[in-house]
Amino acid sequence: MDSPNQTPDADTVPVIEIRGLHKAYGSLEVIKGVSLTAPRGHVISLIGSSGSGKSTLLRCCNLLEDSQQGEILFDGEAVRWTGQGLERRPADRAQVTRFRTNLSMVFQQFNLWSHMTILQNVMEAPVTVLGEDRATVEARARELLAKVGIGDKCEAWPAQLSGGQQQRAAIARALCMQPRALLFDEPTSALDPELQQEVVKVIKDLAAEHRTMIIVTHDMRLANDVSDHVVFLHQGVICEEGPPDRVFGAPQSDRLRQFLSATM
Ligand code: ADP
Ligand code: MG
Repeated sequence: MDSPNQTPDADTVPVIEIRGLHKAYGSLEVIKGVSLTAPRGHVISLIGSSGSGKSTLLRCCNLLEDSQQGEILFDGEAVRWTGQGLERRPADRAQVTRFRTNLSMVFQQFNLWSHMTILQNVMEAPVTVLGEDRATVEARARELLAKVGIGDKCEAWPAQLSGGQQQRAAIARALCMQPRALLFDEPTSALDPELQQEVVKVIKDLAAEHRTMIIVTHDMRLANDVSDHVVFLHQGVICEEGPPDRVFGAPQSDRLRQFLSATM
């Protein structure tokens, strides 16, 4: 499971750990005390009905959202928490930027920059955000685009690609940052069924490489096939969680049974 160049110590510390997270939009509490651990090399799937808080939780992980209470730790280092009540410790911008660059997010709508070629899209952040050498990044970007099966699309514009190809480009872009973990928010939901499979294959390949990933998905087969751990979120709380064979094969709660019978 573990990559050989990590010390045993580093391997036992989760890449992402969330403890007792609360998040509200105004008076609407959306995440109500969620704890979640993503150990190195594990794939965590987040499932649940629309509006249950999956995207919000993912955005909190990536510090795209502020939270009111709880702790978020990356590699064992706490990045942000609240003190007593709602008083917030001023976030250290450099620390937040460092943590964010260690997590790459892939969205439902791909979000490629339409005015850049596919290669430029993949190269942009490592060059401008991380300040990496352009030639090094270009070599890596070309390699990653080949890996996701669109090595011949480097000079194409996003609009010239199918949805499945655009999403694979977005995954290559996320990988080019060499992140500690990948976060996916319904990566296949915007795609036709046959294009979904192209993206599913890439995600399965990444899981086989033991990449640390948190995947929000409506694709229960994908969740079943790639996950080490499945979390069922209901109205902002974890209703049930466990290994996929238990969550899908022997659901304990009525809510999960209902959800699965409606989606599978
Ligand atoms: P999911 O991804 O599981 O469908 P979301 O995390 O998107 O759920 O949303 C959870 C709840 O938070 C919903 O009730 C949604 O309307 C609300 N919500 C999400 N984003 C915002 C926002 N920016 N402002 C206010 N409410 C929001
Ligand atoms: Mg969502």
